Amino acid sequence: MTITLDRETIKQDRALTTEEVERLRNEFPILRTRPNGKPLIYFDNAATSQKPYRVLCAIDKYYKNQNANVHRGVHFLSEIATSAYECARKKVQRFLNANLSCEIVFTRGTTEGINLVSNSYGRKNVKAGDEILISYMEHHSNIVPWQMLCENTGAVLKVLPINREGELILDDLENLLSPRTKIVAITHVSNALGTINPIKRIIRAAHERGAVVLIDAAQSASHLPIDVQDLGCDFLVCSGHKMYGPTGIGVLYGRAELLDSMPPYQGGGDMILSVRFDKTTYNTLPHKFEAGTPHIAGAIGLGAAIEFLNSVGMKRIEAYERQLLDYATNILKNIDGVHIIGTAREKAGVLSFYMDCAHPHDIGQILDSLGIAVRAGHHCAQPVMEFFGVPATTRASFALFNTRDEIDALAAGILKVKEIFE
Ligand code: PLP
Repeated sequence: MTITLDRETIKQDRALTTEEVERLRNEFPILRTRPNGKPLIYFDNAATSQKPYRVLCAIDKYYKNQNANVHRGVHFLSEIATSAYECARKKVQRFLNANLSCEIVFTRGTTEGINLVSNSYGRKNVKAGDEILISYMEHHSNIVPWQMLCENTGAVLKVLPINREGELILDDLENLLSPRTKIVAITHVSNALGTINPIKRIIRAAHERGAVVLIDAAQSASHLPIDVQDLGCDFLVCSGHKMYGPTGIGVLYGRAELLDSMPPYQGGGDMILSVRFDKTTYNTLPHKFEAGTPHIAGAIGLGAAIEFLNSVGMKRIEAYERQLLDYATNILKNIDGVHIIGTAREKAGVLSFYMDCAHPHDIGQILDSLGIAVRAGHHCAQPVMEFFGVPATTRASFALFNTRDEIDALAAGILKVKEIFE
């Protein structure tokens, strides 16, 4: 089942209406499940998003009618599978506005994309004494691979600090960037704080010093419009499963010139043109970076997820989720004993908070008993927790199918937590 928004509602400049959201909700079969006998209220979208019918149908269709390996066979099914797989790549290219489809490499997800760049670009271009700049609000995926690169090369990891609002301290950027900076790796949106970072400005400053920039778009790709050419970034990574697509598939965008100059990340089938014992010649882009049988169904499912996002419109999603965030923030900040972590001016739909009376895990469990799925923990951003002096937070993260009524239910759940623990 797919949704058709009428002409009037396709206007890109305003948020989704209540009726449109109701219709979109029908696309998500999982929203009919009843955890603990209650209607599901899913506020764990930053961890993974739910999947609409069109994604489930695309995967089902692939396995039922198209299943074959790609790029290798000359038979009917193999040609169909190859064309569906490569068509998904083109959808990603257009979605991110990449110049060329060969600049889109399918990966397992954001984590693998970052590891690919740090191992391939990093090992080739980073030497002892060079510097890599990340920020204080990075997910562990955008910290540990760079630490590993530093350990292997003798490079130095520099960290751009944040303020109490959870914003990057950009005044420090100029001091932290130097001619020794080889890579700047920054998240577009923080998964722990919701902050939207001014990445265009950071990219420009990094380029002035000759560094390349990787953008972690795990938390932005399904919430904000992205245009890699306008941003001017060198690499951008994201995960299908956070974009209404399947798990196990992700995207690395890289400028062709850079990808071309990089050594392969893994060796195996499909990434070669010819193999002899004395010499192997590598395949062209993007196949050089896609060793072995790829996640074909995943790529096709991701292509369907992108069609879904396009059918709603990224600007409208952004506007609607901003409304949800403002609504939720206004309610939660007025509940005594609730403290929001991450109060940046520019924020996406992530609301992290702690309560004076209860541990985040207890809050999560009580909300779960009411059918409300939130995340409690350090959100793979331990430096952020340390900065704010909390071991963990409770996080509600929004998607285009969430509603104000659901936020009211969250607020009622929080009042129940207070009743129990105070
Ligand atoms: N970066 C950010 C900002 C994230 O929020 C996440 C996941 O939560 C990741 C990276 C890692 O994504 P994945 O586990 O899909 O590779």
